[in-house]
Amino acid sequence: MRATGLALLLILAADVRMPTPVVAQENRSVDRRSTTETSSSRRRRWRNYNRYPGPIPTPAEWRAPEGPVKIALQAGHWRAHEAPGELSGLKDNGTRWRETAEWEVNLEIAQVAAAQLIELGYEVDILPAVIPPDYRAHLFVAIHADGSDNPAASGYRVAAPRRDATGRASGIAELLRDTYGEATGLRRLPTTTYRMQNYYAFNYRRYEHALHPMTIAVILETGFLTSPTDRRVIVDEQERAALGIVEAVKAFHVTPPPALATSSGERD
Ligand SMILES: [Zn+2]
Repeated sequence: MRATGLALLLILAADVRMPTPVVAQENRSVDRRSTTETSSSRRRRWRNYNRYPGPIPTPAEWRAPEGPVKIALQAGHWRAHEAPGELSGLKDNGTRWRETAEWEVNLEIAQVAAAQLIELGYEVDILPAVIPPDYRAHLFVAIHADGSDNPAASGYRVAAPRRDATGRASGIAELLRDTYGEATGLRRLPTTTYRMQNYYAFNYRRYEHALHPMTIAVILETGFLTSPTDRRVIVDEQERAALGIVEAVKAFHVTPPPALATSSGERD
């Protein structure tokens, strides 16, 4: 009897511990409806689903997209309520501080950076949480803010995708680590997280609403919205946060300032 009871317990434990797919970053509230048969089988299907069953392009095959240099700035969590089924875990995510939701801060920083980039001659897309399928740009920067119960938690971090088919993401990540720190004076956290490196928008193998594998991508956690120190920059002095992003874009060899390229006499 005890053995049966134990076996049952083990089954229950195994059931509870069954790995859940990482639906989205900041994914503490995985879709609660998943207890129903249909949604759990749907989720299992997603887990095994590979949208790129063929060979993923290699860094040697990388080419810049056609047209003018285009920079995508994603305002993390913005319009997350529009998330399709495959990204339903996005809907209730994001940190906040008092009345300020993370997406508002992310969007404001994206807008200020976009204005600076447009001034320099770049084409800019500001993207919401759900990005268009197979989205292509010269560079994609996801903008987020961290949160913690501990108001002393502070600092920014930058991560390239764990799987980077372009072979170029670590280059922009290194630049952004430097330029963002210089522009903001914030502390850089030495570690990145699993959810940053495996950010859903990077995961074209699993999600339809993800980047094209040849879009160079990076994710920036601009600072802690719950930290008074970090808020002085990301809430009160967003120009500095934006400048940190813009300086990295300008310095990256794939995305030099278009105005400079034109005025340097290549064509006029
Ligand atoms: Zn976020």
